[in-house]
Amino acid sequence: MKKKSENIQEPFKIGEETIEPGTRKTVHIPISMLPNHATFNLNLRIIHGRRHGKRLFLSSTIHGDELNGIETIRRVLASPQIKHLRGTLIALPVVNLIGMLNQSRYLPDRRDLNRSFPGSETGSAAAQLANTFLTEIAQHCTHGIDLHTGSDNRINLPQIRCDFQSEETLKMALAFGPPVILKSKIRDGSLRGAAEKIGIPTLLFEGGEALRFDEFAIRAAVQGIFRVMASLGMISSEKSTSAKKSPVIAPASRWLRAPTTGIFRSACNLGKKVLKGDVIGMISDPLGTNNVEVVATLEGIVIGHTQLPVVYQGDALFNIAWVPDPARAEATIEEFEEETELDMGLGDPTTY
Ligand SMILES: [Zn+2]
Repeated sequence: MKKKSENIQEPFKIGEETIEPGTRKTVHIPISMLPNHATFNLNLRIIHGRRHGKRLFLSSTIHGDELNGIETIRRVLASPQIKHLRGTLIALPVVNLIGMLNQSRYLPDRRDLNRSFPGSETGSAAAQLANTFLTEIAQHCTHGIDLHTGSDNRINLPQIRCDFQSEETLKMALAFGPPVILKSKIRDGSLRGAAEKIGIPTLLFEGGEALRFDEFAIRAAVQGIFRVMASLGMISSEKSTSAKKSPVIAPASRWLRAPTTGIFRSACNLGKKVLKGDVIGMISDPLGTNNVEVVATLEGIVIGHTQLPVVYQGDALFNIAWVPDPARAEATIEEFEEETELDMGLGDPTTY
């Protein structure tokens, strides 16, 4: 009996709020004022489990036009899988609220929030928001997952970007089980970098494109989040869908650029293999008299591509991740797509 009560968590305190174990609460942390004198808040939903466990933050829309993560987090919060949560889940579906309202990646100070960490109390709006996120949220967590999409009219295959140097982060990435894990250096000013610096392993998930929902990316993220939570002991592992395939691990990626200016037609989709010399697109002039082939000069799989038909010479067209065996990687990604499709039924938005 004594043992049972010892396992009950203390109430969780954040700002002025206290969240009792076994309860959920929406919390608003004021950042500054909007020009109409409404408050600009960081809005979070906290699920404070009855029993002790890890503290995980889930953040989305640090770039205001990247919306997939909002739906991802909604599905996680609505799921019965977190009913008997151990530890604490802190969900921030819209970090850059003003960016979201403006359908813009940036804050009104034209700063990129994900280049503004660790921020400061007295800096620009982005610096203040970054500082609040780090000191009020991330610092109180043991782990984090930050959700993104492609930017600049580009679409990304669901992938985790991760610096392989942190063992704990790599462990989380493998537990997440995305189609692709891409080795990527930590960028200066990013949330991932700032969190890792204070010892909080943080995953960066990329999938889909800005201003759109992408069902494959949303499902891959929801399932990955549950797998991470199971691996951290926050939910029972029977409640998460175990990945049947090991992710494709890519040590590097590079953009293949437009050889000329014109109207671009793609002949290669996300997840497909590319071999040196393959013709994977065509750039024509609008009158159709001049056609230039887009020839792959790299080998690997396509993990991102532009969605824009109008391109200038040098524009980024295909992001190609180098892998030792592109054909095998393509087959693995196809299997991931099939699995993800089967795991949740489509059609009725109230059921997922
Ligand atoms: Zn982003």
